[in-house]
Amino acid sequence: MNDPAVAVEDLRKYYGQTKAVDGISFIVRKGEVFTLLGPNGAGKTTTLEILEGLRKADAGRVTVLGRSLEHNDKTQKARIGVMLQETTLFPHLTVKETLELFASFYPRSLDVQKLLEEVGLIEKSRSMVKHLSGGQRQRLAFALAMVNDPELIFLDEPTTGLDPQARRHVWHLIERLKGRGKTIFLTTHYMEEAERLSDRVCIMDHGKIIAEGTPSELIRRLGSGGLVECRASLSEDDRRLVLSMFGERVILAEERFALKTDNLVETLRRVMDLSREREIHLESIVVRQPNLEDVFLALTGRELRD
Ligand code: ATP
Repeated sequence: MNDPAVAVEDLRKYYGQTKAVDGISFIVRKGEVFTLLGPNGAGKTTTLEILEGLRKADAGRVTVLGRSLEHNDKTQKARIGVMLQETTLFPHLTVKETLELFASFYPRSLDVQKLLEEVGLIEKSRSMVKHLSGGQRQRLAFALAMVNDPELIFLDEPTTGLDPQARRHVWHLIERLKGRGKTIFLTTHYMEEAERLSDRVCIMDHGKIIAEGTPSELIRRLGSGGLVECRASLSEDDRRLVLSMFGERVILAEERFALKTDNLVETLRRVMDLSREREIHLESIVVRQPNLEDVFLALTGRELRD
């Protein structure tokens, strides 16, 4: 196998009592989209910032593009692109000036005009940064992460706060980068984003990796059948009853429960009987395929998003 783009072994970072990163290990292969998926506070940003050389780990071994972090010199930095969760830009520079400034930091850079076209900001190239919308700022930050034509690009929650259309635009950009053979290291708490873009996903929670695999591998762990998802506020007694009736087949959340099923009619019948007998008001019943959100819920008992 080729050398991995990133190799992490037993990485740790504690802030006092908070175990932000608690002994994680993983490998990112060259040319793949690798995603750390987890809720707020799971430790994704801390992990990413250690790999980017912005934070110091307490313990563990890390290599990025074949070199350990102690050798994170200028040459190494030129091979990496970084989009932080929040990017502070100069408000009075234009979009084009901002890109040209960042391009000047590197020995080699992409054509600024082409980059503006690629991220859909050509019409804004003379606008001052302070006049950009949230989505446009995000695309500029994305362009800045690409300006040095890096081999490996770290994207920390690149679509948080974007509307669905702007989010899709960023997805297309990520897919195009992958098409050019770049390695993408993504963090997100949007499961549909992880599912759509990732070759491999590590699900992180409380500083630990709780599952790892391709999105379809992770989803297959829930079984081969579909899910019957019921929205209902259950009393404690009813929750216990649902658990005893459906055992391992139930994924229980606050305001809903999902039942893994290979026999739809039979499962629906049992749900209806339960609802009638216990007078449970079912707000909705949806039959669907399981997704990464269900995987997270099944593993932690919590929703991925707050
Ligand atoms: P989010 O999606 O909200 O960005 P995350 O998964 O990226 O979350 P981190 O930002 O890595 O999570 O934070 C992990 C834990 O470490 C959190 O409990 C956070 O409060 C804590 N933490 C992060 N940075 C610091 C710091 N500089 N000092 C103290 N605690 C910190």
